[in-house]
Amino acid sequence: MKLSALLLFCAASVAQELSVRTLIFSSESSRNFVELTPQKPLDLSSFTLCLRVATELPQWKREFILFAYRTQDRDELNLWRESDGRIGLYLRTSSEPLLFTVPALGPMQTHLCVTWESSSGATAVFVDGKKSLTKIYKKYHTVSSGGRVVIGQDPDTLLGDFDAKQSFVGEISDINLWSSVLPHSSIKEIIGPYLRSSEGALFTVPALGPMQTHLCVTWESSSGATTVFVDGKKSLTKIYKKNHTVSSGGTVLIGQFRQFYKANGDSKSFFNSSL
Ligand code: CA
Ligand code: CA
Repeated sequence: MKLSALLLFCAASVAQELSVRTLIFSSESSRNFVELTPQKPLDLSSFTLCLRVATELPQWKREFILFAYRTQDRDELNLWRESDGRIGLYLRTSSEPLLFTVPALGPMQTHLCVTWESSSGATAVFVDGKKSLTKIYKKYHTVSSGGRVVIGQDPDTLLGDFDAKQSFVGEISDINLWSSVLPHSSIKEIIGPYLRSSEGALFTVPALGPMQTHLCVTWESSSGATTVFVDGKKSLTKIYKKNHTVSSGGTVLIGQFRQFYKANGDSKSFFNSSL
C-alpha cells in the first residue's frame, strides 16, 4: 500500500532538496511505504540529511531502514539503524556502509542528521545536535539522480522487493535533505527549543524519581493522536479513542484515586509527593 505524504517546501538559506513533516508506520509490513519527490534531481557532491525518529522496535532485535534513495541498480543513498544499534550510511552500495556508534534510538524522539562531502569524504552524524567524530567515506564520489526516495521500506529494485523484517515501525518526521553540509550551528538551530533545553539526558525513557520530571500528555479526538512529553521530549504518536469525548460533570482529584464517584479515597494510593 502506498501512503500519501504531505510535502512541505520551506524557504531556506541553503538549497533544500526535500522536506516532509510526519509519517507514522504503526505495524511491521512489506507493503507500507511513502515515496517522496525531491524538488530537484539528486546529483549531490555533498548533503545534509536530517530526520526525527521514534520507535518501539527493541534494540538488537533487527535492523531497520530510516531513509532509502535507490536507482534502478543501486542503493544510492541509504540510512539504516543496524541490528547492533549503530547508524549505517550506504552510498551506492548495499554491503559496505560507513558505521557510527550512537546513543540508542528509542521510543522518545531522536533528531538525527548525517552530513557528507565529496572532496574530502568527510562524514559525520549528529544526534540531538551533538556531533560524532568525523570519518572519511567515498571520497570523490557523487550521488546520482534518477532514483526514487522511499520511507518505511528498503527497496531492492527501483520501487519494490520489500522485506518486512527491514521495514520501519514508528514515527519519522521532519525529513529534510540539503545539497550542502550545514554547519553545526545550523543543525542545532533546526532542532528547536525542546531538545536544546534538555540536551544531556536525551536517549533513555526517563524514570520518575526524586528529581522533578515534567510530564505532559496531549490527545485529540478527531484523529485520536496521543502523545506524551517527558521534560519537553515528545514520544511517538499513538492513536487512542478516536472520536471519543471526555464528559463534563465530574470532579478533578489530585492525590487520590476514587473507584466510584464520591467514594472515600483509598489511603494506600495517596500520592505522597509534590506536584
Ligand atoms: Ca532489502
Ligand atoms: Ca536495498
